[in-house]
Amino acid sequence: MIKVAVIGIGGMGSWHIENLKRVKDFQVIGGYDINPAKKEILNNWGYKFYSDENELFADEEIDLVVVATPNNFHKHYVLKTICSGKNVVCEKPAMMNAEDMKECIKAAEERKKLFTVHQNRRWDKDFLIVKKVLESNTIGSFYFIDSRVQGSRGIPGDWRCVKEAGGGMLLDWGVHLLDQMLCLVKSPVKEVYAQLLSVNFKDVDDNLKILLKFENGVCAQIQVDTNCFINYPRWHISAIDGTMVIDDWNCTGKIVKANTLSFNWEEGIIYTETGRTKTMAPRPLKTLDTLPLPEVYGGWEEFYKNIADVLLNNAEPIVKTSEVLKVIEVMDACFLSNEKGIAVNLK
Ligand code: NAD
Repeated sequence: MIKVAVIGIGGMGSWHIENLKRVKDFQVIGGYDINPAKKEILNNWGYKFYSDENELFADEEIDLVVVATPNNFHKHYVLKTICSGKNVVCEKPAMMNAEDMKECIKAAEERKKLFTVHQNRRWDKDFLIVKKVLESNTIGSFYFIDSRVQGSRGIPGDWRCVKEAGGGMLLDWGVHLLDQMLCLVKSPVKEVYAQLLSVNFKDVDDNLKILLKFENGVCAQIQVDTNCFINYPRWHISAIDGTMVIDDWNCTGKIVKANTLSFNWEEGIIYTETGRTKTMAPRPLKTLDTLPLPEVYGGWEEFYKNIADVLLNNAEPIVKTSEVLKVIEVMDACFLSNEKGIAVNLK
């Protein structure tokens, strides 16, 4: 059994505790939270509450610590976990900048401890559908890929609204979408341009757009909105042989491809009050094939099954810190791009 302690018993800490029950080889034994009111909650669930962090780090029974505090405390707890000789899973964003990430990677390497990050959105069905379609070459090579999450409910009124605590949507949803994008496009990021707006929350970014250019020529757009009342599709991908759309969290969507390159250009011309267009008129329907999206298996527990495999059988972690570092370097470039109003080149 891999004995687990969780630091930060809020929304996500509780989620880890609850969901670890369904993964073989793991046993949660307790947790710590700066808020002593969490003692009663943990005790009611049958777990130990450590009265301070040092008591937790001194407990030799613990093999793995899950860090699920607000973002600004991740570095402190990751380093303390590693220095106490334990392995660590950190919530995303692992760190608030690349320098901190490098420091933690170095510490984990020196102590030969596992340090990985809960990039759980790699198991989202919509992402896995996109991955499957792109890898199967169903629509040929892709050149534009748009990934968006959009809501109109603002930011929950907690630490996420506070810059110092690591709030804002780039560090929240932006990091998920960047991580997914870097998994999909197998080429280094060359250039980053970002607009991070504070529409309703003055201290942090609450609506953002990022443009990424990859060395292989792919151009990706990422958008996170908290003040959007009419959504774009979750995914929109343009490829040489077709287009793919996933509309929403339910993964409705389709692939559309041309079945012939020849058609009558005069058919279906669009006339507006101010002119006519052949180029932007719809193709004749008979020249198109519509395909359903493929079935995929999500399987979030693969994240923890892999961790068991790493700790018990020396397997490779699925979420590698080298990948997470690249995402954080892009995040740093987004903040710089937004501050200076420039496109930032990455080496
Ligand atoms: P939350 O506010 O619900 O919970 C945070 C908990 O940490 C609270 O119980 C708080 O008392 C405790 N805490 C605050 N400061 C602390 C400290 N210094 N030491 C110990 N405990 C402390 O927040 P949340 O939504 O659970 O988010 C926690 C982390 O999980 C964040 O990093 C967030 O980005 C991440 N998260 C990840 C996902 C995901 O899908 N992977 C989803 C939500 C949140």
